[in-house]
Amino acid sequence: MLDRVLGQETESVKAVDGVSFEVAEGETLGLVGESGCGKSTTGETVLRLREATEGWITFDGDDLLAMDDDELTQFRKRAQIVFQDPFSSLDPRMTAGDIITEGLRIHGIADRAERRERAGDLLERVGLSADQIDRYPHEFSGGQRQRIGIARALALDPEFVVLDEPVSALDVSVQAQILNLLDDLQAEFGLTYLFIAHNLSVVRHICDRVAVMYLGEIVEIGPVEEIFADPKHPYTEALLSSVPRVTTEERDGDFSTLRGDVPSPRNPPAGCRFHTRCPEARAACRESTPPAYAVGDRRQAACFRADEDHTYWESEPIEENARTNDA
Ligand code: SF4
Ligand code: MG
Repeated sequence: MLDRVLGQETESVKAVDGVSFEVAEGETLGLVGESGCGKSTTGETVLRLREATEGWITFDGDDLLAMDDDELTQFRKRAQIVFQDPFSSLDPRMTAGDIITEGLRIHGIADRAERRERAGDLLERVGLSADQIDRYPHEFSGGQRQRIGIARALALDPEFVVLDEPVSALDVSVQAQILNLLDDLQAEFGLTYLFIAHNLSVVRHICDRVAVMYLGEIVEIGPVEEIFADPKHPYTEALLSSVPRVTTEERDGDFSTLRGDVPSPRNPPAGCRFHTRCPEARAACRESTPPAYAVGDRRQAACFRADEDHTYWESEPIEENARTNDA
């Protein structure tokens, strides 16, 4: 369905480089990484909420970047987004009913009475009640607001939904309810999801496959259970070892197994972008950029360690990394 997204630029920063993935109809692909790694940018780019300056994106075989305004309008009915923050993403001056049906109104679908009926049905479907239709966002809890955000995304009967950290801003007790709801809706409406998250524990329960991003690149992609059982990229390993530390804080997961901060995407390290933090880094990792190596049938990892014949294996370890990471 959604076939590919490649590099795109924002201002002078190339936030996402050579990102390439496919999402099959009816599946959930997780896109995981630390803050600033380009995952939201990627999500927005595939919906053309942001312009891509190079590369290609196809949706059901159609080239998204070549669409004219009319085609884009049609595409926008088929692809929707649920945002991270249910507090800032709902207009406080609009009622729940108007928020949910705004897309129908903009696209000139249904009259007022029909839209109201549709909003009532959707409220019920996401676990709220049709009599809450005239309430304002401040009258709902965070979890309820996210249910409204989900109802809004469903109003146009989309096929594809980008879920941009849909539970990160919610209490842990509410997160599972929202994830279950998303799961049920996917089965009922045959939805395809791109699920953006900053920790792997959330994606485990909902995703079929996961793509791990670091500094604007996908470093590993494959079936979620295989990646959990046996991560091939050292960054994925670090993300996995941070899983038990997940908190409800708004900051990203605790990456204390890694030294240093995420380098600036304006000036990414040469060679493997992860070499400044990688516990397995060797001199060869400074010199060239690892391609995406196939690992088995359905997985890829961009790390020289996936190639048993690579000069990496004869090259000197970057001692500094190993020491700091062990400490
Ligand atoms: Fe680490 Fe080298 Fe693999 Fe990059 S290529 S992830 S620096 S071992
Ligand atoms: Mg984000």
